[in-house]
Amino acid sequence: MSDMDRKLFTRPASDDASDTVVEPEACANAFPARLIAAGLRPTRQRVALAELLFGRGDRHVTAERLFEEATAARLSVSLATVYNTLHQFTAAGILREIAVDGARVYFDTNTSDHHHFLVEDDGELYDIPGSTMAGLNLPKPPEGLKVARIDVVVRLRRETSA
Ligand SMILES: [Zn+2]
Repeated sequence: MSDMDRKLFTRPASDDASDTVVEPEACANAFPARLIAAGLRPTRQRVALAELLFGRGDRHVTAERLFEEATAARLSVSLATVYNTLHQFTAAGILREIAVDGARVYFDTNTSDHHHFLVEDDGELYDIPGSTMAGLNLPKPPEGLKVARIDVVVRLRRETSA
């Protein structure tokens, strides 16, 4: 391990200082290395949550859903820790936050530009395949401003056969 890596592992952090750090060499998966690459300390809890989040391909989860999965996996974390970790992952650029209705927040493991279908009946969010910013008839932003990101959520409702 280089001196720089050693600093990374021993640097104190406010909210997770009590959690132990997972050494990438001692771990069977790539998540500790992935967290380090994103500038995050690979604490035991972060690595375990990253495994739940990123271990099954692209997905959209709420903090509550991830908390339920963590509990089912016998991971001892609080909902507050799950929230904090999701926001840290988002700030580090490995997750994308999608706010729907202002109240419901989803975290997307796919950070590339794409749009979503929301099934209003059950609150499920799906990627719109092949969606890009091209094809949208965008208004020209005011002088001195540019489009930073576009979040398109197409709301769906199940057809009733009645
Ligand atoms: Zn998505």
